[in-house]
Amino acid sequence: MDLRRDYFLDRWVIINPKRGLRPHQFTHKPNPGKAKKDYFAPGNEMTTPMELGRVGTDKKWEIMWFMNKFPAVQTDGDYTIQRHNKFYTFSASYGWHEVIVETPSGTKQLYSFTKKQVMKLLRVYQQRIKDVRGKEGVKYASLFKNHGPDAGTSIAHSHSQLIGYNLVPEIIKQKLKKSRKHGKCLYCEVIEAEKDSDRRCFENEMFIAFTPYASRFNYEIWLMPKKHISDFSKLNPWQLDQFCDIFMLILKKLKKIGCSFNFYFQNYGKMHFHVEFCPRIATWAGFEFSTDTIINSMSPEEAAKFYRDK
Ligand SMILES: [Zn+2]
Repeated sequence: MDLRRDYFLDRWVIINPKRGLRPHQFTHKPNPGKAKKDYFAPGNEMTTPMELGRVGTDKKWEIMWFMNKFPAVQTDGDYTIQRHNKFYTFSASYGWHEVIVETPSGTKQLYSFTKKQVMKLLRVYQQRIKDVRGKEGVKYASLFKNHGPDAGTSIAHSHSQLIGYNLVPEIIKQKLKKSRKHGKCLYCEVIEAEKDSDRRCFENEMFIAFTPYASRFNYEIWLMPKKHISDFSKLNPWQLDQFCDIFMLILKKLKKIGCSFNFYFQNYGKMHFHVEFCPRIATWAGFEFSTDTIINSMSPEEAAKFYRDK
């Protein structure tokens, strides 16, 4: 299991044949009538690796997290990046890969949770990010959720994942570098521009959500604090409550669309923290892969109307 760099580009690949052994509850589309075993259900804990923590009591958990049984990265091997020659740069596929099961229910999805439940989950997110990024050899912790078969999930039971590994991703390095000029944050300026644009969607005292100017996905939407906050894990309870309100509004809208989606936290260094939600309606194809230029069939202005619509 290796982490390998492209011959010349800062583009990395985890070579991991074991990931191919994951159980799949979906062939392609979910078929609730014929769901296979729910590995994350209470009573099936013995089928998952040892529990790392839980919200709830000894007898009954509400949220539980454990190491991924089919991890993309593992804490064995050497995490230092090595170079065999000018073309082969690699390390062990090193890191920490956790699964956070968000509910004991095998059918309830995150967008149907009560606010109380979502708040509990967000506090777990805060704690797990803080914990995992402090692990030996971990340079970046990525918290994300895959919902639905077109977003890459293999288990229908509502869960999120956290991967901490030995690289700061190139995209994060670039965002950090380009969004900070002379100590100032350009995301803060973007928010100023977008809050009065026809891409604005939701806003409260502390947070804003808008469809980004160059949206890559149909209905792509970003959620950000309105003032400069660089670390989600440091939001205080009131700030987290404000975050939760808009987070839930977005999830309810995604439920309405009824598509698969990913969301992921962009949380690193002094960068303005944000969460990006990417509905997976279209499939990227030859042009996107060959040029890194994305064709999006829906304008963000149109998407924002949908989000604003009561
Ligand atoms: Zn900022």
